[in-house]
Amino acid sequence: TVTALAECVSTSTVLLERAAQGAPSGSVLVADRQTGGRGRRGRSWLSTPEASLTFSLLWCFDGGVARLAGLSLAVGLAVARGLANSGVGGVGLKWPNDILLEGGKVGGILVDLDTAATSTRAVIGIGLNLQLPPDGNEEFLHRPAALAQVMAPVPDRQLLLAQLLTDLAEIMDRFEDGGFAALRNDWQAYHVWQGRQVRLLDGVLVDRQGLCLGADSDGALLLQTEAGIERCLSGDVSLRAA
Ligand code: ATP
Repeated sequence: TVTALAECVSTSTVLLERAAQGAPSGSVLVADRQTGGRGRRGRSWLSTPEASLTFSLLWCFDGGVARLAGLSLAVGLAVARGLANSGVGGVGLKWPNDILLEGGKVGGILVDLDTAATSTRAVIGIGLNLQLPPDGNEEFLHRPAALAQVMAPVPDRQLLLAQLLTDLAEIMDRFEDGGFAALRNDWQAYHVWQGRQVRLLDGVLVDRQGLCLGADSDGALLLQTEAGIERCLSGDVSLRAA
């Protein structure tokens, strides 16, 4: 079921509440306007009514969180495919969770997990810019991009959502069957830093530099450094050009 709201704080926050009250796997919540869109680590996701698509999808998995390694990368692949299938050219992915359009950030993915003993609920939040977000007080870490920069008119929001949900359902089925390992090659084909020199910044600014080898079957980034191959989990790091 797809539920549309005119306004909410964050589609993921509301869907998490609904999941706790028994909303079924596959439920989708879309909002015209978010007043408190979230990014990773307490960052905010800005959107403008009519100029962005913000929605969340609930997916329930049997078993614990270990099965969900690489989920946000898998979602990125689905979004990249959905955009390509909607006629958007020039889409790329940046590990772990950014959707890029000609180098700018056109979308973000946020996965919230709710873990019980025998199952895990994942609320997958997706925000996409149809038009550029407003210049808020927020200093954008990464230059924003919008679909309107590469196409006119931009796709109808409902049609775009329908296409994204089709691609998400297909990718989630493959992810449930084979984990991220089954999607790794497809994901790497979209990864903009694949085979390039990159710098990894973590919260305390310990820089690591190396050749980006892609992601392993758990979705961890592999970096060829002078010390050997380093494996980075997506917890608290950001990827930049070297
Ligand atoms: P990075 O990996 O680039 O360091 P991040 O993955 O930690 O960033 P997210 O949590 O995905 O970032 O998204 C939040 C950040 O995205 C905000 O801090 C802001 O810089 C940026 N941002 C917020 N709204 C938008 C938007 N509509 N379009 C592009 N960027 C945005």
